[in-house]
Amino acid sequence: MTDQLHVSFEIFPPTDDSGEHALWKTVERLASLDPAFVSVTYGAGGTSRKRSTKILDQLVRRTSHEAAAHVTCVGTTREEINALARGWSKKGVKRIIALRGDPPAARGTRFEPHPSGYSDTVALIRGLLRVAEFEIAVGAYPETHPDATSPEADLDHLKRKLDEGAAFGITQYFFDAETYLRFRDRAVAAGIDKPIVPGILPVTNFARVAEFSARCGATVPYWMRELFEGLDDDAETRRLVAASTACELCNRLKTEGVTRFHIYTLNRAELSMAICRRLGMRPRLADAA
Ligand SMILES: Cc1cc2nc3c(=O)[nH]c(=O)nc-3n(C[C@H](O)[C@H](O)[C@H](O)COP(=O)(O)OP(=O)(O)OC[C@H]3O[C@@H](n4cnc5c(N)ncnc54)[C@H](O)[C@@H]3O)c2cc1C
Repeated sequence: MTDQLHVSFEIFPPTDDSGEHALWKTVERLASLDPAFVSVTYGAGGTSRKRSTKILDQLVRRTSHEAAAHVTCVGTTREEINALARGWSKKGVKRIIALRGDPPAARGTRFEPHPSGYSDTVALIRGLLRVAEFEIAVGAYPETHPDATSPEADLDHLKRKLDEGAAFGITQYFFDAETYLRFRDRAVAAGIDKPIVPGILPVTNFARVAEFSARCGATVPYWMRELFEGLDDDAETRRLVAASTACELCNRLKTEGVTRFHIYTLNRAELSMAICRRLGMRPRLADAA
């Protein structure tokens, strides 16, 4: 890690053996960049939760990475979450990405707390901090979360999460630097003095990202559609375009004083490596040899 830049990587639990093999290769490669932490996402269903726990356990046992656990309030009691957090703390996990989560698609679109569950992220943070002195990160939405009644209310909710004890925010992905920079200004104006770390998504599968973005409220700019147009059957060019786009975004953020980046790796190393290189980070020599 260079003196000034901090990068963290997000991975997700794969569903099969070949995905797992690819994941550990990715994790190994990313180790040379000495990330601040590697976080493991958390699913809404029971099976996917078991997979998250398994990957997190292995991350702690097999690597020297600082591991961070994502957790959501969806479909879980307070006691279950507290027990999970107690287990993580015993294993040496010090960081949690605390989230409200989304209901499974089959159960409608509105979040309903479990009858014995945490009612929202603020309550979740309070509960987790009673279990152990975790460093907690929370989600932040430069383009406003779709459930928010207004951009101001959304920012107010983010402030409440940070005031409750979360240490920093990590943003939903965005593709225009201005989107993040304007959000950062609005956050400061709203009295938020904790870091808001940009979440960076290098796009390789444009069609899938466009579909997901429509649901989560992230804008896919017109220039980006044009960049990826006609490349559906050309994975190699898509990867090059993805790398240059993400590198340009991160470099612009760096020139605006951003020193921390959270990269949604999609379990692949090469684009994250390219971004870090472009930012000026170099792998540790021993690992690079
Ligand atoms: C960095 C990051 C990592 C993620 N990882 C995962 C993951 O591992 N697993 C997963 O399932 N999902 C994950 N998500 C997605 C996340 O679960 C969804 O975006 C979800 O819809 C919101 O979760 P949140 O904790 O950010 O919500 P919150 O910010 O707590 O709530 C969402 C919005 O609803 C409104 N709101 C909620 N509660 C209140 C309240 N009490 N009062 C007023 N307004 C309120 C606010 O406008 C708020 O912005 C991640 C998102 C991010 C940004």
